[in-house]
Amino acid sequence: MDTKKIIGVFAVALSIVFILVGLFKMAASKNQQQPIAQTKAVTYEESDNMLCDKNTIICVTTRYDGCGHTDARTAGVPTGLAGASVSAIKAYYADRDFEKYENNTIYFSESRAGKCSHHYILRARGNKISVVYQQNEAGVKDEYNFSPEHLPEGDLERLQNGIYAESDQELAALIEDFTS
Ligand SMILES: [Zn+2]
Repeated sequence: MDTKKIIGVFAVALSIVFILVGLFKMAASKNQQQPIAQTKAVTYEESDNMLCDKNTIICVTTRYDGCGHTDARTAGVPTGLAGASVSAIKAYYADRDFEKYENNTIYFSESRAGKCSHHYILRARGNKISVVYQQNEAGVKDEYNFSPEHLPEGDLERLQNGIYAESDQELAALIEDFTS
């Protein structure tokens, strides 16, 4: 075999490799262009006919006008409404505003007067400090033992009249101050 022939065979082999690599790349890019699962948002009208199942979640966001805080609660579909359509669920919660249906979750919102449940009043009663909710003073959150005789008179008077705490951190700091 002479050198020319060897180079010729080599060149042909190399071209074939190049063509194969090119074809492979084309095939690969074609695969990538194929659409993945559609994640289009369900529109308001479309969602009405969707049916709930045991995995459907109901998420309610409550906004408290008194403090501006919001909290979100999630729950399953009420028994008796399993398998119902989204529109049936909307009718069931007519007092809430329907926001959207997404990822098998039905979102509602509502607003309430007053403050959320993270606002407290501390009050001294005998040897105890009771912590109640500003929004519902009958609801006792906690009670702590303390020694009134160890407190400066001004503090004791404030505690007897009631001290307001507007967050959990504020409450914790006050309890720390008065009980340690
Ligand atoms: Zn609040």
